[in-house]
Amino acid sequence: MRTYDVTVIGGGPAGLAAALSARENGAKTLLIEREARLGGILKQCIHDGFGLVRFQEKLTGPEYAQRFIDQVERGGIGVSTLTFVTRLERTQTGFAVTVVNRDGVETIQTKTLVLATGCRERTAKQVSIHGTRPAGVFTAGTAQHFTNLLGQLPTKRCVILGSGDIGLIMARRLTLEGAKVLGVYETKPTPSGLTRNIHQCLRDFDIPLYLSHTVTRVLGQDRLTAVEVSQVDGDMRPIPGTQELVACDGLILSVGLIPENELAQSLGAELDPKTKGPVCDGQLMTSVDGVFSCGNALHVNDLVDYVSESGELAGRGAARYAPAPRREVAIRTSPALLCAVPQRLDLNRDNSKTPLYFRSREVLDRCALRLRVDGREVFSKRYPFLRPPEMERLDVDFTRFGLDENSQIELDIEVMDHE
Ligand SMILES: Cc1cc2nc3c(=O)[nH]c(=O)nc-3n(C[C@H](O)[C@H](O)[C@H](O)COP(=O)(O)OP(=O)(O)OC[C@H]3O[C@@H](n4cnc5c(N)ncnc54)[C@H](O)[C@@H]3O)c2cc1C
Repeated sequence: MRTYDVTVIGGGPAGLAAALSARENGAKTLLIEREARLGGILKQCIHDGFGLVRFQEKLTGPEYAQRFIDQVERGGIGVSTLTFVTRLERTQTGFAVTVVNRDGVETIQTKTLVLATGCRERTAKQVSIHGTRPAGVFTAGTAQHFTNLLGQLPTKRCVILGSGDIGLIMARRLTLEGAKVLGVYETKPTPSGLTRNIHQCLRDFDIPLYLSHTVTRVLGQDRLTAVEVSQVDGDMRPIPGTQELVACDGLILSVGLIPENELAQSLGAELDPKTKGPVCDGQLMTSVDGVFSCGNALHVNDLVDYVSESGELAGRGAARYAPAPRREVAIRTSPALLCAVPQRLDLNRDNSKTPLYFRSREVLDRCALRLRVDGREVFSKRYPFLRPPEMERLDVDFTRFGLDENSQIELDIEVMDHE
């Protein structure tokens, strides 16, 4: 049986960074990827805008991924592509990883695991659109796969539902390829994607954005012929009498991403209902000893730079892991935050430079993130604005706050009075 110190599942940017970091920290490392090539979702993201934080350069997705793939290929890391992890089980010395590939079924033994399985897109069925089930309804990622990797245009005249970043990027991409994008319809009163993408992908191409609107029905038998769109009220319910038919042959859905965590759940890892990823400590170890999580499997990231950072943290944690009792304290969030990672700290580990990621629940101007321990403010940072689509990141030295297991740590956001 093959044995490793660290096995990383998923060869996207999170898994690549995790494998490199595990190896740099002296671990015998295996990287497993179900597709033929490493790079994950970046393989199909041929637009630029990747790596601005990390490399201060505007790279395409494949260019960004290649910088990590080159290092992985320089040696020292076992790589198994076209290999699908189907089962994880605990053993006395760590975990048994069952994989399926062209050679059949194999079980690999590993001391620790890094789960870097990315996320999946929400589909039409998950947003309850009525009507027939014709061809022509795609998730934005599938439309991107057809356009960028297979060289096939999936639509000539389409409506995009949801203003998430992938939908915005595809609005521009399909327009550049000659399709007519009739509009992006967003149920919420504010866009879901990054502000830069609203400007660069919609405004620059005169593509209309309809806020507080949704698609209520699809029409067509073999192929989509039209969609019905409606305005929605404050509770996001369609307003009767506002329906309009829009003739089109494509409906592109950009209605959210869900972290892919079936493997984590199979080991009994606790999931956070806010992030839909595993609850982790400052080393990104899940509630299962020796199992680490990173990238979009941990929480949906807006920038790939933070995906790589979390991979490095998880890979290092996995390589240095030695079983030890935990002394945990939870980081609670007030309702003003949509989510925050990590959700807890293990006081037996190093918490002197913990990256903290968070999102606000609403669009807020002139506000401050406040960190309180037992009701006392110990840290704060001001922001000119916070927007839910934009994840914020900061380093916190938690060792300064005299924490113990009974400490009540709370993160809150307060809007500041106008001066
Ligand atoms: C359309 C789009 C546009 C984006 N634009 C930008 C941008 O402009 N700038 C930016 O910074 N970021 C952008 N992002 C975000 C960034 O690309 C992602 O956050 C990042 O790629 C996520 O990396 P990951 O490694 O967590 O997941 P992924 O890249 O999804 O990789 C996960 C990998 O795990 C593998 N896997 C899953 N399950 C298994 C299994 N059981 N066995 C084996 N392998 C498995 C998958 O095949 C996949 O390769 C964009 C994302 C998308 C989708």
